[in-house]
Amino acid sequence: MQARRSRVIVLSVLLATVGALIPLAVMGYASWKLAINKELRVLDAAGNDAIARAHFTFADARKALVDMEASGAARCSPAHLALMRTLTINTPSVEEIGYFDNGKLKCTSWGLTEGDIGKARVDYVTPDGVEVTLRIQPAVTHAKPMVALHLGSHNVLVTPSRFVDVGLPPDVSLALTNSTGLLIDGKNSPDVAFARRHLEQKADGIDGSDMFATVADGGLAAVVTEPVTKVYSRLRGELLLLLPAGLFIAAFIVGIVVYFSRRRLSPRGELEIGIHKREFLVHYQPIVELSTGVCVGAEALVRWKWPSGTMVRPDLFIPLAEETGLITAITDQVVDGVISDLGRTLEQDRSLHVAINISADDIKTGRFLDMVSLKLKKTGIRNEQIWFEATERGFIDIDAARISLDRARTAGHSVAIDDFGTGYSSLQYLQGLPMDALKIDKSFVDTIGKGTATSAVTSHIIEMAKELGLFTVAEGVETEEQASYLREHGVTFGQGWLFSKPLTAADFIKFHAASVARYGRAAEVIRVAA
Ligand code: C2E
Ligand code: CA
Ligand code: CA
Repeated sequence: MQARRSRVIVLSVLLATVGALIPLAVMGYASWKLAINKELRVLDAAGNDAIARAHFTFADARKALVDMEASGAARCSPAHLALMRTLTINTPSVEEIGYFDNGKLKCTSWGLTEGDIGKARVDYVTPDGVEVTLRIQPAVTHAKPMVALHLGSHNVLVTPSRFVDVGLPPDVSLALTNSTGLLIDGKNSPDVAFARRHLEQKADGIDGSDMFATVADGGLAAVVTEPVTKVYSRLRGELLLLLPAGLFIAAFIVGIVVYFSRRRLSPRGELEIGIHKREFLVHYQPIVELSTGVCVGAEALVRWKWPSGTMVRPDLFIPLAEETGLITAITDQVVDGVISDLGRTLEQDRSLHVAINISADDIKTGRFLDMVSLKLKKTGIRNEQIWFEATERGFIDIDAARISLDRARTAGHSVAIDDFGTGYSSLQYLQGLPMDALKIDKSFVDTIGKGTATSAVTSHIIEMAKELGLFTVAEGVETEEQASYLREHGVTFGQGWLFSKPLTAADFIKFHAASVARYGRAAEVIRVAA
């Protein structure tokens, strides 16, 4: 029992722990995922912004180039130079416009060009036909490196940062490339190799200590990167939302586990398991004929044998079993026990009987009769050899009791009123009940020879039983003095430590055999009141 309890406790603790950890882990993981996804969406938006910005710059510069190409002014004429200047001023992205002839720079928005400046090597061509040279050193102004865009015989210079002119927090870096991964420009010093690596997958995610989002559109790509640590502040927010839900579910699961384990560990739970595992067995206390000492039968007394070997007395579990309605299942196991323990002995000695205690529930529903007759049918035991003992508590529903007892007696069983005199019901009340015997309670037998007020009651009970035509069984006979008193007053049978304590089935069979050897058998099964 102890081992069983600790197994239940260990299992419950385990279940509760797992049951509590799982929702917390799920919520933690969900918070982490949500935080990352939200952060990645922010990076994605920044990437989209950057690409839109770059497209705008390209389109702006291209328009200046198209306008220059469309101009009818003689090349490098004052009108041509004036148009170059106007467009340079009016186009925010464009810093300088130049005109090439035969691969040589002839004039720019600054004026005519001296020297021999050739067209720079083209890095790539945009989908709409603009040749792009990245990081060109402007020949005329000697300013910082520029991006040169070339269409027809004109080119424009654009400050690279124009392409990535978006607002970003300092720890978010951006790399803007063309579709082949050539860096157009970056912001907040991006790791270009890192960006190229992830451009190919066009995915968002985490790599090492960085998280990144990639965006590609119209021949441009952006990779936006920030340290994973930035997700932590967002994670706190998500946890604040989801963790309470996780805690609630965890508490709920723990509550359920506690409820069921407490139920399982409760006396009722123990009893249910005991019944399920068929831990109930029967001991037999001999009943002897007082006049001869012949063993005429036994009372079946249930015992609950725990796996530890402890034998539990019925007083400790019968009241609970009656309260919870589990008693009928115990009655079943007692009947099974009697049949398997004493089936053969009862077949060999037809004068022998076994008295089975039945509960109020059994009597009220009468179900025990159907159960017993079904079980006895498969054996050689006669109905007359099975007696029933019912206490006054069983007669609360007197009409149902009358029907049950009547059916039992019609089937051949004898019925005895147990613990007679200890309850509240008057004899008149019981008088109408069909029965065969009275069991005189131990408390009355105890008074014999003590000269107390109740001792007078004992002889009264015996007299009343005689008048009602009932035979009597005295319980708890411990002394020879009690036995001879009972004998003298005509009590038929006795049961008690004077004759024997309750015995195991094997010991009872030996006790019965010894009695047969010494006194011979009793008369065939008696039924005094038929
Ligand atoms: P009960 O039917 O009055 O059973 C007699 C009780 O008195 C038994 O206790 C028995 O061991 C005890 N006893 C017998 N002779 C002596 C004696 O000389 N001196 C003393 N001091 N005690 C004696 P037990 O076995 O502990 O049973 C207790 C009660 O449990 C029974 O009282 C009965 O009401 C109930 N019970 C036992 N088995 C069953 C069962 O199978 N079904 C139901 N419903 N109740 C049962
Ligand atoms: Ca009894
Ligand atoms: Ca009794």
